[in-house]
Amino acid sequence: MTESWGQFKSFDGKKFKALDAEFTNEVSKLIGGQDLTTCFQCAKCSAGCPVSDKVNIQIHEVMRMLLFGLKEVLETDMVWLCTTCYTCQQRCPQGIEITDILFGLKNLAFKKGITPAGYIGARQSLYDTGRLYAPTEWERDDLGLDPVPELNIADTKKLLDKNKLMKLEVEE
Ligand code: SF4
Ligand code: SF4
Repeated sequence: MTESWGQFKSFDGKKFKALDAEFTNEVSKLIGGQDLTTCFQCAKCSAGCPVSDKVNIQIHEVMRMLLFGLKEVLETDMVWLCTTCYTCQQRCPQGIEITDILFGLKNLAFKKGITPAGYIGARQSLYDTGRLYAPTEWERDDLGLDPVPELNIADTKKLLDKNKLMKLEVEE
C-alpha cells in the first residue's frame, strides 16, 4: 500500500516523465478511453463538477494528463474524490464518457497499489459483515431505533467471490 495517493498537488513546477506508451495503451482500453483524443479542453466538465473545490487537479486537467499519457494522474485525488455523479459526462460537448473513464482509473490505481487505506478496509468490511461501515448501537439507541439487524451475508460473499473482488490484490 502506497501513501502517495493525493500527493500530486499541482502542475506548477512539476516535471513529468516522458509519455508512457504502456499507460496510454492501458487507458485507451478503458470504457470511454478510445474517445479521449476528442477532448478539446473546454473545461465544461470541471465547471459543473461538485467536488471541483475539494480536489487539487480538475477533471479537465485529468483528461489532459491522460491525453499526454502521464501516469501520475493515478496519484491525483480526483480519482477517489469523484462522486461518480456523471455531471461531467452529461455536460461534455464531445460526448466523452468521463465518469466511466474515472471508474477505470480507480481500477488501475487499485491494481497499482495507489488506494486510500479506507477503501481497502471498506472492501474487507463488506466481505466480512455485508456492511461498508459498522453501525453503532448507541447511535441507534439515541434515535430510538431497533438494534442493528443481523444480515445474511452468504449471498454477498458469493457475489464478491464471483466478481473476484477479494482476489484483486494491490501490488507491493
Ligand atoms: S467537457 Fe469534454 S471536451 Fe470539454 S474539457 Fe471536459 S472532457 Fe474535454
Ligand atoms: S462524475 Fe466525478 S468528475 Fe464528473 S462531475 Fe461528478 S464528481 Fe466531478
